[in-house]
Amino acid sequence: MNIKLSKKEKELLQLVGRVSSELGVSAYVVGGYVRDKLLGKTCKDIDILCVGDGIQLANEVSARIEERPKVTVFKRFGTAMLQTNGLEVEFVGARKESYSKDSRKPIVKPGTLQDDLNRRDFTVNALAFKLRADGLGEFVDKFGGMKDLEDGIIRTPVEPAATFSDDPLRMLRAVRFANQLNFEISEKTLAGIVKSASRIRIISMERVKEEMQKIMACGKPSIGFKLLDSTGLLPYFLPEISKLKGVDKRKGISHKDNFYHTLEVLDRLSDKSSDIWLRWAALLHDVAKPKTKRFEEAHGWTFHGHEMVGAKMVPPIFKRLKLPMGQPMRFVKKMVMLHLRPIALTKEEATDSAVRRLLFDAGEDIDSLLLLCEADITSKNPEKVKRFLTNYQKVRERIVEVEERDKIRNWQPPISGELIMKAFDIKPSRNVGIIKDAIREAILEGDIPNEFDAAFELMLQKGSEIGLEPIKKVEALKEQDQ
Ligand code: ATP
Ligand code: MG
Repeated sequence: MNIKLSKKEKELLQLVGRVSSELGVSAYVVGGYVRDKLLGKTCKDIDILCVGDGIQLANEVSARIEERPKVTVFKRFGTAMLQTNGLEVEFVGARKESYSKDSRKPIVKPGTLQDDLNRRDFTVNALAFKLRADGLGEFVDKFGGMKDLEDGIIRTPVEPAATFSDDPLRMLRAVRFANQLNFEISEKTLAGIVKSASRIRIISMERVKEEMQKIMACGKPSIGFKLLDSTGLLPYFLPEISKLKGVDKRKGISHKDNFYHTLEVLDRLSDKSSDIWLRWAALLHDVAKPKTKRFEEAHGWTFHGHEMVGAKMVPPIFKRLKLPMGQPMRFVKKMVMLHLRPIALTKEEATDSAVRRLLFDAGEDIDSLLLLCEADITSKNPEKVKRFLTNYQKVRERIVEVEERDKIRNWQPPISGELIMKAFDIKPSRNVGIIKDAIREAILEGDIPNEFDAAFELMLQKGSEIGLEPIKKVEALKEQDQ
């Protein structure tokens, strides 16, 4: 069994081998690093398993490296970590774990190599190489992990029921690895997940989120979501997405299955963008369809207002999943809110003012919004897809044209509230807002150009309409403020 190591990796592993034999303990390189290397991928996180004291091994290794990297010890977990030469090396003592029913915190005792490999989640993660002073030694494969790696199979090393009941997070890890590596979950392991799915409840949302984010970052995240659905895991943390599933039929009219539609949009978007938050927007863009679904005699199935109701559903979902509530949440909310707007612009009669309004509302995120809209075309009819894409291309061109002329994308009001207050010698009040809004509306409508002088005139006009009198030297403000 051979793997390709860089010079740095080789030196480090030889050092660990040398130090471990001096200490009279056995050390192995194990887990994700071995798996990824055998798959020919690069991997910067190295897991070292020490049959003995892993923390002592880490300290001794650090002492032999010239720059003496800092050893971070996690006493509670009996692990230690150091960083050197761009590698992150984690040391863990071989352990035997036993779990109680309602906690994922095990009772940990020192164990043998076999004990430690037994507690690993999947056969492909339980492969190891013994470390010797001259490099990699014996290859350890107790559960047929190498064959599973070749066949592309995710399988638990022991009975799935035991693996998943000990630590239910492993069910999500199975889905995530299947998605990341493009592997199949073995039939027995899959059945084990279905059986234990409800145990996912004891896992903290932070851990769930981490796995969700890794699924979201995959090339084709639909694979992960279909598995989350078929195993029954999804409703425990994203019931809104589960509810998108299903088709209703009335009077011979059915609507599309919004779960599969959403996943198609997510994949199409992921082909074009690795922006994780835009991917979340794709996942959530139709989230309110079940809530807004109606059957109208004249029109068939409708989902009126699903963009607005959906936007409101974004914050609670982010909160539950412990996703960041600041800019990322606001961005996703905005995308869900606006996802139908560009469609209106594909119509022949769409006005410049509609283009300006969308530019104003989307601002810097207009390109992301268009990517989302293009991904939202999931028609099976290639002619239609082509036509819709061409339409969006035209919308893009119009946006460029309008933006060049009117500069709305990063719009700042040409007249500030301060200037309005000076012009009429008034304090902050509703009237300031009324005048500001009138200027913005006139610019977006195209009644006046997006320029200072025109806005200044409108300010005076609007002011007099609402009974305000300008100061005597109001024209002089022009010179000061422009
Ligand atoms: P990645 O780094 O891409 O998440 P990985 O396999 O390296 O994948 P880590 O979380 O870094 O995963 O863990 C390293 C190794 O520790 C795994 O390969 C596995 O052997 C073991 N491991 C990690 N988490 C668990 C778990 N919840 N249950 C059992 N074994 C685990
Ligand atoms: Mg890792």
